[in-house]
Amino acid sequence: MVTTTFAFDATLSRLTIDLGAVRQNYRRLRRKLGDVPCAGVVKADGYGLGADHVASVLYEEGCRTFFVATFDEAVGLRQILPEGDIACLNGLLPGTEAAYVEHRLTPVLNDLGQVARWRAHGVKTGAPLAAMLHVDTGMNRLGLDGRQMDQVAEDPALLDGIDWQYVLSHLCAADAPDSPMNAQQLARFTEMRRRLPGAIKASLANSSGIFLGSDYHHDLARPGIALYGGRPSAGGDNPMRCPIRIEGRILQVRTVERGWTVGYGGSWRAGRETRIATVAAGYADGYLRSLSSVGRVAVGGRLCNVVGRVSMDMITVDVTDIDPADTAPGGMVEVLGPTVTPDAMADLAGTIGYELLTSLGSRYVRHYVDSAE
Ligand SMILES: *Cc1c(COP(=O)(O)O)cnc(C)c1O
Repeated sequence: MVTTTFAFDATLSRLTIDLGAVRQNYRRLRRKLGDVPCAGVVKADGYGLGADHVASVLYEEGCRTFFVATFDEAVGLRQILPEGDIACLNGLLPGTEAAYVEHRLTPVLNDLGQVARWRAHGVKTGAPLAAMLHVDTGMNRLGLDGRQMDQVAEDPALLDGIDWQYVLSHLCAADAPDSPMNAQQLARFTEMRRRLPGAIKASLANSSGIFLGSDYHHDLARPGIALYGGRPSAGGDNPMRCPIRIEGRILQVRTVERGWTVGYGGSWRAGRETRIATVAAGYADGYLRSLSSVGRVAVGGRLCNVVGRVSMDMITVDVTDIDPADTAPGGMVEVLGPTVTPDAMADLAGTIGYELLTSLGSRYVRHYVDSAE
């Protein structure tokens, strides 16, 4: 993207990321975990917050194990973190073995074919290579399934020749603490670990899993969303701090007479004389179109309804009940942040906070601050 510097402030929207809140969220999870180490999941560019910034502060906080999804993400992170373990969740694609070694990355091996290839590569380099083993306990997405575990039980040598760091599995419903799937997966995980040769350290909990209790903590926790302010349980309180604040500038304020409609499709009609503020944030910025007529923004600390369709670059907001002093064109309003949280807006939009965060557009001017320094 072309960026030009003007002598005036042409910023229409900005995204402020408080790395101090990420630090505090990490510390909070550590307190919950006691002596169990806490990794940091920084896939998808740190859930949209900037993996380089997030990983650096986590490292400063003592985090030494990082998870990403793809090989590219891992190589990028290695530039930022000369030390520390970087594990790649999506598995070992054929032909990438030497590159993993070159960048000192740890693959999470998802089936016995990957295990065999990694062992063979270790033989080539002269020493067993480090890896993690993913076993499937119910997600049915990645990891050794029951049949492959039977093969391992019959022939434990299948796992020889690898320096196993952890065996891990992933919970399907940890954000629903009452779901019977949690205990089922824990029981399967325990059973699968029992069938593995030797004692390999274990990791099961994602963010929500940490809050299910110490039975789920094992030897390493793998939180992502909670670091970025997401709530651990779908129905419960949120003890985490929201590190992001997106503000959009008020471009114009107008009075719409009763009976007129606002926006594309005329989907919203004024039931009274309404003051409408047009705010610079739209779906091209990651402000989901499904927030049309259901989203909220915070103006001068008060919540106002988004009315009418979300456009590409703008939303329209009912500010009838707000002091006009707080709605002067040129002012900034919070469209997502501590007051209108990603979780709350995701509920209204029919999605999850994860999707809102990872959809944050590239158009925002990003500011990083660190309130905890
Ligand atoms: C994304 C992911 C995590 C982190 O999950 P959160 O719900 O964001 O805490 C942990 N483990 C695996 C395998 C993942 O894919």
